[in-house]
Amino acid sequence: MTAPRLEVDLEKIFQNTSVLVTSLRARNISVTGVTKAFMGEPRLARALLAAGVIGIGDSRIENIEAMRAAGITAPMTLIRSPMQSQVDRVVEHADISFNTELDVLNALSIAARKTRKRHGVVLMVEMGDLREGIMPEDLEQFVRAARHIPNIDLIGIGANLACQNGVSPDSEKMSELSHLAEFLETTFGFVLEIVTGGNSSNIQGSLSGGEKDRINNLRLGEAILLGLDPFSRQPIEGLFTNAISLVAEVIEAKAKPLAPWGNIGQSAFGKSPVSEREGNAFQTILALGRQDIDPDGLTGTPEIKVLGASSDHLIVETGSRRLAVGSEITFKLNYSALLRAVTSPFITKTYSLPKNRRIPENSEVCTHRTAEELHKWP
Ligand SMILES: *Cc1c(COP(=O)(O)O)cnc(C)c1O
Repeated sequence: MTAPRLEVDLEKIFQNTSVLVTSLRARNISVTGVTKAFMGEPRLARALLAAGVIGIGDSRIENIEAMRAAGITAPMTLIRSPMQSQVDRVVEHADISFNTELDVLNALSIAARKTRKRHGVVLMVEMGDLREGIMPEDLEQFVRAARHIPNIDLIGIGANLACQNGVSPDSEKMSELSHLAEFLETTFGFVLEIVTGGNSSNIQGSLSGGEKDRINNLRLGEAILLGLDPFSRQPIEGLFTNAISLVAEVIEAKAKPLAPWGNIGQSAFGKSPVSEREGNAFQTILALGRQDIDPDGLTGTPEIKVLGASSDHLIVETGSRRLAVGSEITFKLNYSALLRAVTSPFITKTYSLPKNRRIPENSEVCTHRTAEELHKWP
């Protein structure tokens, strides 16, 4: 088979989504399925929708457009503040966008009026992680200015934590966000349809308490795909952590000294790999590099150790095992490695479709997205 390749088991991803949708529903929290790590792959979006997410979220309008072009009609949210230069596309293809700037809302309004559309807006609130958001003390004034912008519907507020600075989305932060929602509702006399608490890092907290708060939505990507809580990097109970794997091919396998020799300066990527170790070991080179993955984000079987990578070579030590040239090694990926693997044109993506859910025939594994496949299910 073609290598390197990313093998995506959409049945496991369906199951992961289902487990999370069901357990969060019991807490009155809906799930928006986030597809950005897969560049808006329509087959992924369909698996998430089949498992009960209320809509799709993606950070890039190009991905949303790709899903629309593939015939997905579900509600779509742009979960990054729109670029002013893209407002026409945002209004055309996304139902909702996350926003923090009045100038952008005004630009969205002009775009919406041109095409006689309405556009839903969720205002992001800065809660301490210092990525996007309106400062809480500025929120009232912002809403006052934003609520009568033509063709713009203020439908909710939200927060994003644990991304830029690892600030925990704990119950204090969630009750703060809930209070802000209630404050806006009493001040302005409207009802906020969406109070979206955060991303995969919010799952554990949402399932373990805080039932009284107003949070009614989470946007989930990483937990669905990797089965991990990004805050602790621990597996989430009941989820598959092996839905996605990366397979690479061996192009050299030789016993070599563990330590380099010669005058040592900088290597291609900065630090010089100083090894004090003595003796020889089987060193294996895979046809895969930094252009395709983040080498720190790969995990192989226990006897396989990633030593480093250059642009196009991944060097691994295989202990006492000698792997044949032409053989394959399978890795798990963390989120950073996954992002790069998906965007690398050198990595083939193979998707095995969910079972028993209106799947097209003869396509247990399909490696190419044909228009037909994309339209067949669900
Ligand atoms: C990426 C992103 C998410 C999803 O994050 P995961 O950790 O993958 O669940 C949610 N909200 C926003 C605003 C994002 O940018």
